[in-house]
Order: sequence, then structure tokens, then C-alpha cells
Amino acid sequence: MEYFVFQWHITEACDQRCRHCYIYALGSHAKFKEMSLEDMVTVIENCKTFCEKAGRLPYLYITGGDPILHPNFWTLMKILKVSEIPFALMGNPFHLTEDVCRRL
Ligand code: SF4
Repeated sequence: MEYFVFQWHITEACDQRCRHCYIYALGSHAKFKEMSLEDMVTVIENCKTFCEKAGRLPYLYITGGDPILHPNFWTLMKILKVSEIPFALMGNPFHLTEDVCRRL
């Protein structure tokens, strides 16, 4: 069965300040927006439901900001592991340390 790929922006949090970044394109942010854990669970269920109807398997590109800086990032990783949904991380690579990569 083929995959259906979702690009999923879970947070605007990032400790870099790239000039080209759309997050900063409109000026300073008073507060970074990020998705709640409850909403993330709903998104996963919606992706699974959509893929069941479409005859596809879900695949997630998880992005931000830096998704690792989301306070519920590791909980999300556990949920995806249990759900057996493959994923790739996109965004700021500066927190992909050896320990983080091993844990992933
Ligand atoms: S690392 Fe990515 S998210 Fe962070 S400021 Fe740069 S472009 Fe934006």
C-alpha cells in the first residue's frame, strides 16, 4: 500500500533567527504558537481515518520551528511509535545530538 504524506507544523518555537524564516517575516512574535497535546492526538486520529478511507498509509513530516522544542515532543514520539506511523523530522537540526538521535 502506498503512503499519503502529511507535513505537520507542531510549533513555531525555534532558537535560531534565520533571515529567510517565514515565522519572523512579520516581525517579532509576542509568543510562539504551538499545538496542544490534545490537538496532536486528534490530528493523528484524523490522519489515520483519512488514510483508511483513501486506502493509504500515513507518513508524517513533522516540522516547526524546531519540533524537538515542543514540550510534548517525546510524548508525541511515543504515540507515533505505538501507532506505528513512520515520520521524518524537518526543521532546525541544531538539537539533533547523538543522545537525541539515539533516543529517536
Ligand atoms: S531554523 Fe528554521 S524555523 Fe528556525 S529560524 Fe531558521 S528557518 Fe526558521
